[in-house]
Amino acid sequence: MAFTLPDLPYAYDALEVSIDARTMEIHHTKHHQTYITNLNNAIADTEHADKSLDELIANAGSISPAVRNNGGGHWNHSFFWEVMTGDSMGGPSGALADDINATFGSLDAMKEQFNTAGATRFGSGWAWLSVSADGKLQISSTPNQDNPLMDVAEVKGTPILGLDVWEHAYYLRYQNLRPAYMQAWWDVVNWNKVAELYNAAKA
Ligand code: MN
Repeated sequence: MAFTLPDLPYAYDALEVSIDARTMEIHHTKHHQTYITNLNNAIADTEHADKSLDELIANAGSISPAVRNNGGGHWNHSFFWEVMTGDSMGGPSGALADDINATFGSLDAMKEQFNTAGATRFGSGWAWLSVSADGKLQISSTPNQDNPLMDVAEVKGTPILGLDVWEHAYYLRYQNLRPAYMQAWWDVVNWNKVAELYNAAKA
């Protein structure tokens, strides 16, 4: 069963306050689609052709570089679209907010640690907030299209928030200023979705 491009849960211009519509459209229809096309080509007529994306991701390091890079690209972008929204939400509430405060000291301190993880990722990659196997919030970054669910991840966990820090994610508006993009991005985080993922990971 070939993988297909998921629709965005909002219009291309919905995140304009932080990410311009042209970047969103190219990112979705070109970059994300290319990962899907290459993933489908990599697994066609192989023993992996009928595996779920989650199964491919969990074993990405042992299957092939093509599955690691393009399966990761498909998983990461599908996730990324879902943790953003045009409906400004300010910040987290409830158990997630309490855990962020207990783990990092404050929401601002968590953001700072997250932004540092993204800013210091050399080249292309992602910054992550995830829940570890023993239920703890943790921040990490991964190279290329790796993620914390992969067998090859240095810091393993269940992602509840992730940020694409590849240049293609921000270059049209922010050029070389990755930290400015990261700072602005917090205004479009879908905290309801992050809380949903947090609660599921903790359950
Ligand atoms: Mn991307």
